[in-house]
Amino acid sequence: MIKAAIFSFFVLLLGVFPSLSTAQENASTPAPAPTVPASPPVTVSPAAMPEVSSQNSASQKPAVNSASSVVPCRKYCSIPVDGPYLALAFDDGPSATLTLKLLDLLKAKGVKVTFFVIGENAASHPEILARAVAEGHEIGNHTWDHPQLTKLSDVRIQEEVNKTSEVILQATGKKPLLLRPPYGAINARVSHLVVDEDGMKMVLWSVDPMDWKRPGSAVVAQRLIAGAKPGAIMLAHDIHPGTIEAIPTVIDALLAKGYHFVTVSELIAMESQAPQPAVAPTTASGGAPTPVVHKKHRKKSL
Ligand SMILES: [Zn+2]
Repeated sequence: MIKAAIFSFFVLLLGVFPSLSTAQENASTPAPAPTVPASPPVTVSPAAMPEVSSQNSASQKPAVNSASSVVPCRKYCSIPVDGPYLALAFDDGPSATLTLKLLDLLKAKGVKVTFFVIGENAASHPEILARAVAEGHEIGNHTWDHPQLTKLSDVRIQEEVNKTSEVILQATGKKPLLLRPPYGAINARVSHLVVDEDGMKMVLWSVDPMDWKRPGSAVVAQRLIAGAKPGAIMLAHDIHPGTIEAIPTVIDALLAKGYHFVTVSELIAMESQAPQPAVAPTTASGGAPTPVVHKKHRKKSL
């Protein structure tokens, strides 16, 4: 009776706080000091999901494993690496104007990034995806039309993911390996469908400049530069003019500090098995839970 009650409690916790679950891919990484689930978030999804680094998530493993019928969430927020490597990732495109402008400046700087594209946008501009891949960038899946996956049925989740992956495959010749769930909204069910069923890696972020609020290019640049750490996965959107204007400053500043930009898959491949200190989350808003609601901005931008 008591065991059943404890089990139910953990199942309930998983539903409310998806980040209580573990990053199984990093289970071999020794966990640092336990992280309290309510630690300051980087950005918070509508499900009030604190952003923690992948190795921090592993510290919650016992809580998950006590509920054997529940598949844990597995996600990458940042990667423990041994060198000054980080990944810059752009969501919600491609944009017929801004993504092309971004590709031009990335080419001029010799920097590789990752684009988490929305399927319906990718279907409109497959040539932009083809160019991005030809120039060394990675394309990830950001669903077909940017829903909150946790609110969809299993079938609808798989439609969102698979339809987008097919468009990316047709445009680039490569099936995407990564999924970034809109709003960072995941739970054990989404994780099971994406990671186990589709064999993809779930990628969130460790630095969010809140560029969807359009705070101005100088603020976006400052936030990204301030949040940079080895192994960071930095979030931005290639649908906001101010973000594109900020990128040259960000790249120049971080190159000057000795950082190397790699794609998210390259960063994951660099994952160190050595004990790592916890990567402190960075927030642009002081940590107050703020739902990411950039879809309406996307609609305005395109
Ligand atoms: Zn998005």
